[in-house]
Amino acid sequence: MLNEFSVLLLDMNDTFMFSADRFGADQDYSIVYRRLGGTLQAKIVNKVIQSAYDYLDERYPDLIYQDSFPSVRDALLATSKEIIPTDQELDILIETFGHHELGHVPLSYSETLQRLAKRFRLGLIADIWAPQTLWIDELSRSGVLNLFEVTIFSSNCGIVKPSPRPFLQALEQMQAHVQDALVIGDSLRRDLGGAVAAGLPCLLVGGATHSSAYGALPNILTLVDNHS
Ligand SMILES: [Mg+2]
Repeated sequence: MLNEFSVLLLDMNDTFMFSADRFGADQDYSIVYRRLGGTLQAKIVNKVIQSAYDYLDERYPDLIYQDSFPSVRDALLATSKEIIPTDQELDILIETFGHHELGHVPLSYSETLQRLAKRFRLGLIADIWAPQTLWIDELSRSGVLNLFEVTIFSSNCGIVKPSPRPFLQALEQMQAHVQDALVIGDSLRRDLGGAVAAGLPCLLVGGATHSSAYGALPNILTLVDNHS
């Protein structure tokens, strides 16, 4: 099935990282925030983080922002500038947001990526809202960071999927051709949409199916079971 490809461009969340994006009314952001040394009242922290999340969540599907998506810093300042007293508190709020956005790479997925990396050149195309630092740490901890020749995080450049640009940028950096690459992701809109826009085939994982997709599998674990 995959013999025609030499490059896999992988999505991250719900493709090999899970339990990300812990936002909503049931979350107490002040717990992480306090651990990071923040001093604002819990009630204020929870309102500020949730407002920033809502600001970004509303804009994320809007094509107007596809090539200039706001950062968490932008969102915090747009929604709560007058109640964030110092730059230091702003930095702690950004890091708090990141901890709630960050997911976890299970061991079975780390092992699968290691097996895939023996057969394919791997690139990562990940939409994240907070700065990349926490993800670099988690990808490193789980032993997968070095498997990727290229890692493209949207928060570094403000370009989010389904823009074709991160996919094409990854191929350019890898000096690979469109016809050599397969996109793997769980999102119809972002991964399949971005792949189609870039002229790339997309294998869907996580349950989604679509007539425009190259194929669909329950997860990348079955990719290794079936094809290596
Ligand atoms: Mg995803």
